[in-house]
Amino acid sequence: MATVVITGGSRGIGAAAVELFAARGHQVYFLYAGNTQAAETMAARTGAIPIRCDVANGAEVQAAFTRIADVDILICNAGICHYGLMSMMTEELWDRLFAVNVKGIYHCVNAAMPAFLKKQAGCIITVSSMWGRVGASCEAAYSATKGAVIALTKALAKELGPSGIRVNCVAPGVIETDMCANLEEDTLAELAQESCIGRNGSAMDVAKAMEYLAGADFVTGHILNVDGGFVL
Ligand code: NAP
Repeated sequence: MATVVITGGSRGIGAAAVELFAARGHQVYFLYAGNTQAAETMAARTGAIPIRCDVANGAEVQAAFTRIADVDILICNAGICHYGLMSMMTEELWDRLFAVNVKGIYHCVNAAMPAFLKKQAGCIITVSSMWGRVGASCEAAYSATKGAVIALTKALAKELGPSGIRVNCVAPGVIETDMCANLEEDTLAELAQESCIGRNGSAMDVAKAMEYLAGADFVTGHILNVDGGFVL
């Protein structure tokens, strides 16, 4: 049994990961931003332990990890998005996207590092996006944060490999979670047709890819597309 820490585990992709890793018998902790009702529902359903914590806040992340006994697998999934012209975007919003999507990983990896170094073993899985690979119009900041996640993953794989720590990334395509809730049905259907396999993804599709990476002992520095072939 491993101890798994999943950020953004109250809803969407993170919640599916909480469900899957808990079902496999692992001890699961998950961080969430503020949706206590969703977090309590997940905790009751899976036995996972919820911790309210803004991953962008280093002090909150440090405090959260003092409540976590150990960590074998860290899944840095928490993220936010914004749709709109970059020229209309406030500096505060730009900074917030980077604070949650990129700096949040910095805080969580550093908080988990003592446990990993002590064991000379560990597994980190980051969450990028297909837009981090190719960029999306009207999602400039989001795309930039997700591109940063890819570079960060590869850099950390090189830096931490000698300490027995693997670092991999999933790059999801269109996954039907609350993050896509503002999209019209027609738009979702059009997006589904852009993938090779003609459908949008589920949160569990991504969780299964995370499970693969968690067990893939000779895989590190890899960016695994989970997008139905949307971006090839
Ligand atoms: P979601 O349904 O909106 O869920 C977001 C989760 O992250 C929630 O559990 C939320 O907690 C948590 N969260 C948000 N900000 C946080 C913060 N500052 N600190 C701690 N937790 C925070 O999103 P999703 O679709 O599952 O996306 C998960 C990840 O996949 C993100 O990194 C996203 O960029 C990436 N992704 C998603 C898609 C997609 O199509 N859905 C595609 C590519 C990549 P609360 O419940 O408390 O708000």
